[in-house]
Amino acid sequence: MTFLIISGCGTNNQANQKNTSSNNKLQIVTTFYPMYEFTKNVVKDKADVKLLIPSNVEPHDWEPTPKDVGRIQKANIFVYNSKYFETWVPSIKNSVSNGNLSFVEASNDIQLMSGNGHHQFDPHVWLNPVLAQQEVKTITKALIKVDPKNKGFYQKNSAEYIAKLAKLDDEYRNALKGAKKKEIITQHTAFGYLAKEYGLKQIPIAGLSPSQEPSPARLGELKEFAVKHHVKVIYFEELASPKVAETLANEVGAKTEVLHTLEGLSKEEQDKGMNYISVMQKNLEAIKKSLFD
Ligand SMILES: [Zn+2]
Repeated sequence: MTFLIISGCGTNNQANQKNTSSNNKLQIVTTFYPMYEFTKNVVKDKADVKLLIPSNVEPHDWEPTPKDVGRIQKANIFVYNSKYFETWVPSIKNSVSNGNLSFVEASNDIQLMSGNGHHQFDPHVWLNPVLAQQEVKTITKALIKVDPKNKGFYQKNSAEYIAKLAKLDDEYRNALKGAKKKEIITQHTAFGYLAKEYGLKQIPIAGLSPSQEPSPARLGELKEFAVKHHVKVIYFEELASPKVAETLANEVGAKTEVLHTLEGLSKEEQDKGMNYISVMQKNLEAIKKSLFD
C-alpha cells in the first residue's frame, strides 16, 4: 500500500517531468537543407530540428551573425557538412562556451577530393547518393552518443532512410550506365562526387563557389568545348543567377536546365513535397537530357 502511494506520487512527478522534457526536447541546429533532412529523418519527432541558414541564401557566401551563434550555442547538437563548406564553424567551435554542445561534421568519415581556388577540399559530398548514406551514418552515430536511450529508434529510422538513398543510387546507376556522352556543363563544381560515382565528366562554368564569375577566356574555352562536343544542355542552379549559363547556351544553340545543388530548398519547395530524394531524381532526369540525345 505504501508502495502504491509513493508510486502514485512518483507518477505525478513523472508527468510533470514529462511536460518539462517535451518542452525541453533535444535541440538540434543544422546548417543547410540536406543536413536538416538527413538529421530529421533519423530523429523524427524525438528532437526539435532547426535550419540555420535561410533557404534563399547561397550557403557558400553565408556567415553567422551573433544571433545565429547564440542559436547554435543553445543547442544540444549542431550538424554541419564540412569545415571546407561552412568555413566559419572552427572559429565558433573555439568561442562557444556550452560544453554540452556536440559538433557533428557529417562528412567526417569521407575522404574529400582536393578542391581549387579558395576551397582546399571539395565539400559537395551530399550530392552523391552513396556519400549521402555515409553522412546519415555519421549523424546517426553522433545522435546515439548524445541520446543513447533512443538508440534503437534512431538506428531503425536511419536504416529506413539509408535504404531510400540506396534505391536512389540504383536509379542513377541504372539510368546512366548506357550513356554515350559523359560531359555535363554545370554552373559551379558542385557535382564532382556525383560525376565520379557514375563515370561522368563535370565541366564547370565557375569554380567551387557559384559566385565566382568565369573570365572571358574561360567562357571562350567553354564555348569551343560545347560546340566540339555537341553539348545540348547547359545547367544552372536554383540559387545563382542563370545569366552566364543563358549567354553560353544562346551562343552555342543549347538549352538551359536546372541542376539543383540542394544548397537551399525553400519553404515553398518543401511545401510542394520536394525533398532531397525527389530533387535528386529531378536532377537525374535533367542530366539524362545531356547524355542521351
Ligand atoms: Zn556549392
